[in-house]
Amino acid sequence: MLKRRLFTPGPVPVPDRVRLAMAQPIINHRAADFLPVFRACREGLQRMFQTESPVLLFAASGTGAMDAAVSNLLSPDDHALVIRGGKFGERWGEICEAYGVRTTYIDVEWGKAVDPADVAAALEANPDIRAVYLQASETSTAARHPVREVAEVVHRDGDRLVVVDAITAVGVYDLPMDDWGLDVVLSGSQKAFMMPPGLAFMGVSERAQRFMQDAKCGHYYFDLEKELAVLPSDQTSWTPAVNLLVGLAEALSIILDEEGLEATFARTEKLAHATREAMGAIGLDLLAPDAPSPACTAVMVPEGVDGPALRKTLRDQYGYTVADGQGRLKGKIFRIAHLGYFDRFDTIGCIAAVEMALSSVGYVHEVGEATRTATLLLRD
Ligand SMILES: *Cc1c(COP(=O)(O)O)cnc(C)c1O
Repeated sequence: MLKRRLFTPGPVPVPDRVRLAMAQPIINHRAADFLPVFRACREGLQRMFQTESPVLLFAASGTGAMDAAVSNLLSPDDHALVIRGGKFGERWGEICEAYGVRTTYIDVEWGKAVDPADVAAALEANPDIRAVYLQASETSTAARHPVREVAEVVHRDGDRLVVVDAITAVGVYDLPMDDWGLDVVLSGSQKAFMMPPGLAFMGVSERAQRFMQDAKCGHYYFDLEKELAVLPSDQTSWTPAVNLLVGLAEALSIILDEEGLEATFARTEKLAHATREAMGAIGLDLLAPDAPSPACTAVMVPEGVDGPALRKTLRDQYGYTVADGQGRLKGKIFRIAHLGYFDRFDTIGCIAAVEMALSSVGYVHEVGEATRTATLLLRD
């Protein structure tokens, strides 16, 4: 018997209770019984994002919200600054360019975090920059950018937006939207929300709402002003993903009311820390040792080991699906998720499987040492 276990940083495993909630009969989204479901989602999301500002919901993957965060805020020929330190940073740039936004890049070595001083220098050299786009957690490299410090620099002078792809940060670690002065924060259902893919979320500050008024990039499906107008009456402009929202209400109550946001952050960090130490204990290097995100851990495939063969062995022989590297990191790293529905025994099991698979593909090490390290760090 082989149990299948999903350890990718999106999609993630979904708790049985959430899956059962989504199996209920479909309700009509314009009828009264939908309203309390939507309201629970809308209010729960504000608590997840730590904001008094509205948080919009879309039937889309996370990239839909990224697209809307360019098309609804800027006009062609506006100037944007993009922090490009991985696959998702590249995506910000591609979206800006698709809308004809003039884009200046800060290229950060993959696996490193951006230096806020570089952001300050770029803004000084280009005073016409209207928005700064970055990731909180660059899932492709497992590095974490210093969002708070970047936001301080962005708002030091001038009327500019800081737009944060926090798809693997909301519900992963503390990222208070209002306290840090973040103008737009995005996330998606298949990450820390313990949900299937299909929903994108977007918190929009008052400043961001002001920018929407004269943005001319053009949009139709993702019309933030239109959504903001109907949000208070617990509606969306188009048919919402009704059953996903029923599941989301359940997932939010698990996170916010049963575990609590602080405890969720602490659990995720503990799993991430134990995994990093465990990999180090058997001589493996991390891609982002200096600024690791607790969302997932990116481990370098050791010399002499074939990355794809290692992941295939892990999946087919041991049942664990971990993520490959993306773009130029394909085959060079593997990524183990910590965000969402994972407990210490899930993580210890994954670490044990990684050790076994490494041994199967010929990496010589003291088998059991990584598992032992994690066990000692995760016991009470
Ligand atoms: C998962 C993810 C996205 C969104 O990807 P989709 O496939 O569109 O859901 C965007 N940014 C980051 C950092 C992510 O981890």
